[in-house]
Amino acid sequence: MDIPGYSIDFEKIVKTIKKEKYKRVVLQLPEGLKTYASQIVEFLENNTKATIIVSADPCFGACDITNYELKNFDVDLIIQIGHVSIPDVENLCIATLFVNAKSDINISNAVKKALPFLKEKGKKIGLVSTSQHVHTLKKVEKILIENSFQPFIGEGDSRISLKGQILGCNFSAALSIAKQVDLFLYLGSGNFHPLGLMLSTKKPVIAIDPYTIEIREKELEELKDLILRQRYGAIASSKDAKKFGILVSMKRGQQRINLAYKIKQMLDSKNKKSYIITAENFSYSILEGFRDIDCFISTACPRIAIDDYLQYKKPIITPIELEIVLDKRKWEDYRFDQIL
Ligand code: SF4
Repeated sequence: MDIPGYSIDFEKIVKTIKKEKYKRVVLQLPEGLKTYASQIVEFLENNTKATIIVSADPCFGACDITNYELKNFDVDLIIQIGHVSIPDVENLCIATLFVNAKSDINISNAVKKALPFLKEKGKKIGLVSTSQHVHTLKKVEKILIENSFQPFIGEGDSRISLKGQILGCNFSAALSIAKQVDLFLYLGSGNFHPLGLMLSTKKPVIAIDPYTIEIREKELEELKDLILRQRYGAIASSKDAKKFGILVSMKRGQQRINLAYKIKQMLDSKNKKSYIITAENFSYSILEGFRDIDCFISTACPRIAIDDYLQYKKPIITPIELEIVLDKRKWEDYRFDQIL
């Protein structure tokens, strides 16, 4: 079966279900692919003997593995389409199959358009992208070499499957080459990844959107300044907090309970009260009832504190920002929160 605009290995899914004789399978899809859910289910049920259960929960990343083994559904496989594996999350308690949705958009024109912008910044270019476009980095590398640049593609840590791949919570593939490059070229949509890339590597970033062929550089610098001002404000307004809520995600790839315990100890040592609060998906509406909490510390997806900041009526900060609140770290040593 075909999904327009993407290359998805459905044959691999069918082969895996048949080979392992899986009977009940949960299918997780990112928002953009949910419109094809019924076609995918029909295809898989017609080609295997499995019953497919579709999860309607948001599936933002490979971290979003639901704890079905706790839910008595008798499920024997989770398939997540649209992301590549986070290796230290895969197959932990239940078999998981990650199937990437590779975009089939041609990136050549977008890269060629970026060449004059790159020339202004330097010759040594670090290349990074998300799972959707990371397979095109070899082609980008070739175009850059033909135009006298020196491209670099880094290896990530144990949460990263593919060379040059970054997650919104993990820039290790960029950090591994940061000292060798003058700047990074990010291939992909959205601002969060290039923003995290700037804040974690401290290098200039040029972003190209393969769909719109839009080049972003100045806008990203402005966004970085705005976000840093917001973070400074969140830290300042957490200084007088007396009660802290430490947020821990139940999703397997975001769960940092040991970090939460350490944070609690740190707050205890400063005579600050704190409570560990868990949820699958955090939002201000589910935390609204915790009225006596003065400040939330998110150990879940780093995007929650940064992207959703304006939705929260109480300050929400990252674990690194808490260190600044407690005078254990200086603002000058600010770091982007990552799950490494
Ligand atoms: S934790 Fe957040 S940034 Fe990391 S993979 Fe999951 S959704 Fe993406």
